[in-house]
Amino acid sequence: MELIFEKSIAGRKGFDFGDPDVPSHAQIPSKYARSVDAALPEVSELDVVRHYTRLSQKNFSIDTHFYPLGSCTMKYNPKFTEALARLSGFTDLHPLLAQLSGGEQWTQGALQILYELEQWMCEMTGFSDFTMQPLAGAHGELTGIMLMAAYHKSKGNTKKKYVIIPDSAHGTNPASAAVAGYETISIPSNKDGGMDLEALKAAVNEETAGLMMTVPSTYGVFEGNISEISKIIHAVDGIMYYDGANLNAVLGRCRPGDVGFDVMHINTHKTFTTPHGGGGPGAGPVGVNQKLSKFLPISRVVKRSDGVYVLDYNYPESIGYIASFYGNFGLLVRAYAYMLMLGREGLMATTDHAVLNANYIMRKLEPYYKICFDRICMHESVFSASRQAERGVHAIDIAKFLIDQQIHPPTVYFPISVPEAIMIEPTETESKQTMDNFIDKMIEADKLSQTDPAAFREFPKTMPVTRPDEVKAARDIKTSFFLASSPTDAV
Ligand SMILES: *Cc1c(COP(=O)(O)O)cnc(C)c1O
Repeated sequence: MELIFEKSIAGRKGFDFGDPDVPSHAQIPSKYARSVDAALPEVSELDVVRHYTRLSQKNFSIDTHFYPLGSCTMKYNPKFTEALARLSGFTDLHPLLAQLSGGEQWTQGALQILYELEQWMCEMTGFSDFTMQPLAGAHGELTGIMLMAAYHKSKGNTKKKYVIIPDSAHGTNPASAAVAGYETISIPSNKDGGMDLEALKAAVNEETAGLMMTVPSTYGVFEGNISEISKIIHAVDGIMYYDGANLNAVLGRCRPGDVGFDVMHINTHKTFTTPHGGGGPGAGPVGVNQKLSKFLPISRVVKRSDGVYVLDYNYPESIGYIASFYGNFGLLVRAYAYMLMLGREGLMATTDHAVLNANYIMRKLEPYYKICFDRICMHESVFSASRQAERGVHAIDIAKFLIDQQIHPPTVYFPISVPEAIMIEPTETESKQTMDNFIDKMIEADKLSQTDPAAFREFPKTMPVTRPDEVKAARDIKTSFFLASSPTDAV
C-alpha cells in the first residue's frame, strides 16, 4: 500500500490558512513552541482524503464485514439508535446541570432514561437495584467485587481472602478480583464444560469471599449446577457474582437474580447493541440484590413522590464514585432506544436467534472441525483445529485464510485451555445467507488443509500487513504511527 509520505512533493499544499485575523503578538511565546521540524508529508487535500479513505477501507467492522468474534458479540448497531444518541437535548447537557438548583427542569429526560433503564434491567435480571455508571464490562466486574468487599467489611468479616473463579470464566474475572485486592483460586471444568463440584467443595472455606461465574461460560455452555454452587458459596457467606457480559444468550429465559446470584454486570455493548471496539466505549451496568444495594456507587437516580427525577447522594455506605458523573450516557441512550424498539417479545427473540445461529454453525461445521462439547451451545461455540493442525494448518492459519475471504476471523487460541481453539459467535443479527457463506469458507479451509497445507503460509494475500510479529507488537509498542517512515516501523 502506498504511504502518504511516498506521495509527498516538496512545496505541495493541501490547505491555506489565509491572513491571520488576530494580532501577530498573540503568537505562542517561543519558550512554549516546539522547535522540532516535524517531517510532515507535503500533499494535496485530495491525496489526504484518498489516503485515509483507502486506509479506512482496510478496516474490518460490522458495518462492512461478517465479524464472528467469539466472546465479543460484534452484532449490528442499528443506525437509528445512533441518531437518537446524537440529539442535542442529550449531547448539549452539561453533566453538572442536574446538581444546580433549578437545573432539574433541563435534565428530566436524561434522568428518566437512567431511571427507567434501571427498572427494566432489574426486571430482566431479577435484581433489586442497578447502577449505570461502570464504563465497560471489566469495570462492572471491578465495581461488583468492590461491592463484595464492602459487604464483608460492613459485617466486620476480615477473614475473606479468596475469590473462586472457574477456568471457563472470562479472563477479565481474575484480573478484576486481583485489582480489588483478592487472591483467586481457579476451579477446573468437567468434561461437559461445567464446574467440577468436588474441586469447588474442596476449595471453599471461611476465607472464600465469593465466586465469579461467567454464564454462559467461555466454552459457550450454560452451567447446569448454579443452585448447588450458590448453596456452597452462601454457606460460608460468600457472594455469587454473575458475569453477564453475554446476557443476549439468556435474556428473557433465565434471571440471574432468581437462581442464586447476588451481583452481576451486563455489557450493553454485547446485549443491547451499543458500539464497542478497541477497548471502548462501552457500558457495564451492575445489578445487585438487597444484600448489596446500599453499597452501590453514588449518585443514584430517584423518582420523588411528585414524579420529579433527582440525583441522590445520600448513601453513607456507598463505595463512592466509580466513574465521573453518570457513566457512558450516550451508550445508555442507545441501549434504552434499542429496548424500546424491540419490546419484551423482541428482546426474547434476540436470545432465541443468538442461540439458534450459534448452534446452526456448530452442527454444520461439526463434520469438519472438532467440537469441544457435544451439547447445545448458547450464543457461541468452541472448536479445536486439532485435526487441521495434524496437517500443519493451525488456528491462526485458518484465521488468516478467512481475512482473504472478506470475513473477520473468529477468536482463536481462546479459551486457552482448548488447544487450537476457534471460538465462533455469529450473533443474533446475522442472516442464514451470511452464515452459510461463512460455513462454506470454513469447509473450504478444511479441504485446502488436506490438499495443499503449504498454501496457508501465504495468507492473507490481500492485506498490506500480513503476519506481523504479534509478540513483538505487544511487547514493543510504537504508537507514533504518523511519523513512522515505513509500515513495519508502525507495527
Ligand atoms: C467481553 C466480556 C467481558 C469484558 O467486557 P469489556 O467491556 O470488554 O470490559 C467480561 N466478561 C465476558 C464474559 C465478556 O464476554
